[in-house]
Amino acid sequence: MLELSTPVQYVKGVGPRIAEVLAGKGIHTVGDLLYYLPFRYEDRLNPRGIAELRPGEMATVIGEVRNSGLFRTRRMPIFQLTVGQGRARLRCLWFNATYLKDKFVPGQMIALYGKVEEDQRSRELQIVQPQFEMLGEAGEGGENGAEKKAAESLEIGRIVPIYESAGQGRLTPRWFRRAIRTALDNLTPDLPEPVPAVVRGRLGLIPPRAALWNVHWPEPGESLLDLQSSRTPAHMRLIFDELFFVELGLELKRRQQKAQTGIAFRLDESVRQAIKKILPFHPTAAQKRVLKEIAGDMGKPYPMRRLLQGDVGSGKTIVGFEAAIIAIENGCQVALMAPTEILAQQHYFSARRILENAGYRIVLLTGSLEAERKREIRRHIAQGGAQLVIGTHALLEEKVEFARLGLVIVDEQHRFGVMQRLKLMKKSGDGAADALVRPAGQSPAAEPDVLVMTATPIPRTLALTLYGDLDLSVLDELPPGRTPIVTKCVSDDQSPKVWEFVRKQVAAGHQVYVVYPVISENEESELKAAIKMYRELSGRVFADLKVGLLHGRLDADLKEQVMRMFQKGELQILVATTVIEVGVDVPNATVMVIEHAERFGLAQLHQLRGRIGRGAAKSYCVLMTGGKITEEGQRRLDAMVQNNDGFKIAELDLELRGPGEFFGTRQAGLPSFRVANIIRDAQLLEVAKREAAAVLAGPNSEISAEEISRALVHMRARWQHTYGLVEVG
Ligand code: ADP
Ligand code: MG
Repeated sequence: MLELSTPVQYVKGVGPRIAEVLAGKGIHTVGDLLYYLPFRYEDRLNPRGIAELRPGEMATVIGEVRNSGLFRTRRMPIFQLTVGQGRARLRCLWFNATYLKDKFVPGQMIALYGKVEEDQRSRELQIVQPQFEMLGEAGEGGENGAEKKAAESLEIGRIVPIYESAGQGRLTPRWFRRAIRTALDNLTPDLPEPVPAVVRGRLGLIPPRAALWNVHWPEPGESLLDLQSSRTPAHMRLIFDELFFVELGLELKRRQQKAQTGIAFRLDESVRQAIKKILPFHPTAAQKRVLKEIAGDMGKPYPMRRLLQGDVGSGKTIVGFEAAIIAIENGCQVALMAPTEILAQQHYFSARRILENAGYRIVLLTGSLEAERKREIRRHIAQGGAQLVIGTHALLEEKVEFARLGLVIVDEQHRFGVMQRLKLMKKSGDGAADALVRPAGQSPAAEPDVLVMTATPIPRTLALTLYGDLDLSVLDELPPGRTPIVTKCVSDDQSPKVWEFVRKQVAAGHQVYVVYPVISENEESELKAAIKMYRELSGRVFADLKVGLLHGRLDADLKEQVMRMFQKGELQILVATTVIEVGVDVPNATVMVIEHAERFGLAQLHQLRGRIGRGAAKSYCVLMTGGKITEEGQRRLDAMVQNNDGFKIAELDLELRGPGEFFGTRQAGLPSFRVANIIRDAQLLEVAKREAAAVLAGPNSEISAEEISRALVHMRARWQHTYGLVEVG
């Protein structure tokens, strides 16, 4: 008998060589094989008679190969196959398909699937580029007849699962059907049932074994539509399992965090006054609400773990400063981390502008400081003199000793990546505070609060899975007085017009960004192109204006100098790479020209555009395109022209790219689901989250301690490793 954990090579017909091919698809165990779900189903229960086909319908046809051949037209080679059922015949065509030349032998049975069309000239019915599958080799006589029949019964007379091929086509859908069928036939009858009975009852979940069977071999009455959209009871069961156990892990982690000792910050009138005193403007309603949520957490005796989401320009910085004041007024220190030096510097400037008058002591600690100066600052921090420490992730990587660290703020978190966030949480939050260390001798009891601020507007469902262990606050309102940015998309042969427009804006006293796509700062050739662009603009097009250049490879001093000149208005045009993507704040800059906009991702374009439209004057974003644009690229640009709302854009982006790509890599920390799709299954995700919380609420009359522990054991086996979730029991 096979267990789900049995290595896949022990499935009859697999063996070590094929097991290696399967490993390339991530299939190592019988369980992995069974979770290799069909991406499509074909209704071969009712294959169509050729005579009854109608133009326009999708149909499965099973017939016999009559003849085939390649003929060449002036434009391209066309491969033609004729399939017959008795007297009736159907023609199939493939364009440019010379590889099909010797594939078909008359007399073979074949299943075809595709859209039926009427040939315009002959009025005959045909299928162009159908999916097809051989149902048995002609002259396959050597094989045992009964076995052959059984195999064929997997292909015809039922709803047939279609799998993605593997191993460069060596493992065909047909191969998978047989292997999976064999695995199911030999699967142990008592699969573990890790989901508590009351949950199963509430959701009407079918048993795991039945789910695995039906998802591959649907019952004859099953709706094809439900199958295709993964909405059958069998699919729902498998999907729910995945979501449920991820949520269980996150919920457990949350509870563990809340069980730790934190600092219960005092929040009285004097603290409120201190906050009020520094505010340079009236906070928006959203800022007020979010601060209340944060302050609420900070007042609790366990550590805060909160994610603050807000579109670019929504005013996260001031909220961070307010939280900092709460901690500082309580005699604690605050660490504020930014992903780049430029951004750390900028925070440092605004912190000084806003907080220094009130007497707060602020330091900037970045990697590029001289060693002596660094030591000095560290001493200042260790002795408790520095109250607000602003830095880059150097704060994270090198040991920085705080006298009394009370709050860690991580800004623009999408740049850190989720993995780094986990590392940070681990170090500063989960007991072993080795990145931000307290001196020996001081009580190790209290964990600092953590506030993560992100400008990536993550759709709520995604945030629930990605950050399920964090509490979520959303800044969903822009400060008043912003006029929406006007976005236009033009081809770069129009650049003279664009430069003319730039010139007018500069004459009106505004400043301009010209962004060049240097996606990776290590890419020598891209950087060269950006520098060339700068020379062209500064030396020729705008020879009479002050033009600066900013890219990631400049040394830190120079970067700071350029940035400061732009901030002060001493530069009118800033040619920059994506280093300005994150957080740079120059309200007088009202125009952004993005070169080769088609090379940027949607989220990145939105982040870039967020650098303008920060003041009262009308702002313009020009997306210039050069060269060929893919259809997807065009949709990205259209989305930018039509939308200003980051959440809307994030959702479109997610749709265009899918969750994996959306976060760049798998490493982004997105759990790698096998069957669930967090966009499609958003509703089920919410249900799973609720049920997970109910389970962890502890044993009661509905749910036994034994069931809970069984669920937790299952969760750890599946997710502990992948997701780095839970360490203690
Ligand atoms: P982000 O959320 O992108 O970090 P910032 O904190 O940089 O946004 O704020 C963007 C701009 O809006 C800054 O110039 C900031 O001073 C300004 N701002 C923030 N909140 C308000 C407000 N309530 N009223 C007016 N201006 C505000
Ligand atoms: Mg910011």
